[in-house]
Amino acid sequence: MDLTFSPADEDFRSELRSWLDANLPTEMRQPAFWAGKSDDEQFEIRREWEQGKAQAGFAGIQWPTEYGGRGGTPTMKAIYDEEMAKANAPSTVNPLGLAFLGPTIMAIGTDEQKRDIIKPLLHCETIWCQGFSEPGAGSDLAALQMRAEPQGDQYVLNGQKIWTTNAMHGDKIFTLARTSSSEGQKKHAGISMLLVDMHQDGVDARPLKQMTGASEFGEVFFTDALCPQDEVLGGEGNGWQVAMLLLSFERGSSAIGQYTEFRHQWDEVARLAQQVQRDGGPASADPVIRQRLASALVDLECLKYHSWHILSEVSKGKDLGFEASMTKMAWSEAFRQVSDAYEDVLGLGFQVPDPQPGLSLEELTTLAMWSRSCTIWGGSQQVQRNIVAERVLGLPR
Ligand SMILES: Cc1cc2nc3c(=O)[nH]c(=O)nc-3n(C[C@H](O)[C@H](O)[C@H](O)COP(=O)(O)OP(=O)(O)OC[C@H]3O[C@@H](n4cnc5c(N)ncnc54)[C@H](O)[C@@H]3O)c2cc1C
Repeated sequence: MDLTFSPADEDFRSELRSWLDANLPTEMRQPAFWAGKSDDEQFEIRREWEQGKAQAGFAGIQWPTEYGGRGGTPTMKAIYDEEMAKANAPSTVNPLGLAFLGPTIMAIGTDEQKRDIIKPLLHCETIWCQGFSEPGAGSDLAALQMRAEPQGDQYVLNGQKIWTTNAMHGDKIFTLARTSSSEGQKKHAGISMLLVDMHQDGVDARPLKQMTGASEFGEVFFTDALCPQDEVLGGEGNGWQVAMLLLSFERGSSAIGQYTEFRHQWDEVARLAQQVQRDGGPASADPVIRQRLASALVDLECLKYHSWHILSEVSKGKDLGFEASMTKMAWSEAFRQVSDAYEDVLGLGFQVPDPQPGLSLEELTTLAMWSRSCTIWGGSQQVQRNIVAERVLGLPR
């Protein structure tokens, strides 16, 4: 594992730090700035800030320059993630477009798709949603039922998607639908990936309220919605292969950004444990809580070295393939451990915490609640374990 940074990496880090110092106002780094603002207000502030960042050249760090990216290395992307987390900078408003759609369009999009989709996506002019999951199709994605009937030069879409991140702010959605019957064939057949405009009468997005109080995902209903036939990605009937390619672009990313964020969260929980009184002494003196905190810290430090190891391998050109599932499991479980330790320190009261000097408990509570979703989205923990067992370790099905 090579833990050294090249002079170019160091230059990139200091350039990014200087830009953040000058362009990320101190108040925006504080949770109090966001408290009391509606989902819509928060979204617009983050979008505007991210657009400025893209104009300054800090978007698409690893994307080729011909697509408006920075043409950087995997290490630069990891440095970017780390510095953004250290600065407590707003997270992207276009996560699905950036992580999945952009790289897929670069790989298999038509020239028109590359021209029309990539730049507006990178500059957050078009916010993309991912329409894969349905009420009866989650882990078993190939069970999806949404239909898209060819009619003239259009498809007519009918069906429902669920758990759609950014449903209320999305402009377009890349979605999977059945364009022909798969009767007598495998259920993966007859599916196409369509790029659908969400600003039309046939598309109805409804928010789903989460336990954090936010509605950053929702349901999307399609009733005779239209999609031009040239807005198919990767050709009609190839949706399953396109979806697998699209999901593979998460592979190889290290979890340095997540480590930085969760380690900061752990530091706050450890400070809280020293302040909160339990059974006549500080919670940090309770042996069970000490054990919890220590165990979370061990997991976190393992995550750090695992992340550097991944980065080192990817920098040498290794395709991690299904090993990437181990990174997803490692970071989401470390996050859960830190959050569980927080909940133990405060007990059930963590849901409505009393203020503590110098600590932002509202933010810790939101993180603790949010951590529960991270072992579900992007492939649940059980499904990731199956992948590692069968495809990395070669165990029988
Ligand atoms: C915060 C959040 C954001 C999301 N955003 C999006 C989005 O933008 N777009 C989108 O399309 N989807 C999105 N999803 C949906 C997500 O992809 C699904 O929740 C996920 O794929 C699991 O599907 P499910 O919820 O239907 O659960 P199910 O698939 O019904 O699983 C239920 C339980 O059974 C287990 N299970 C299922 N199959 C197996 C198996 N073969 N072996 C062992 N255990 C199994 C699972 O691990 C889980 O514990 C989001 C989800 C969340 C929580």
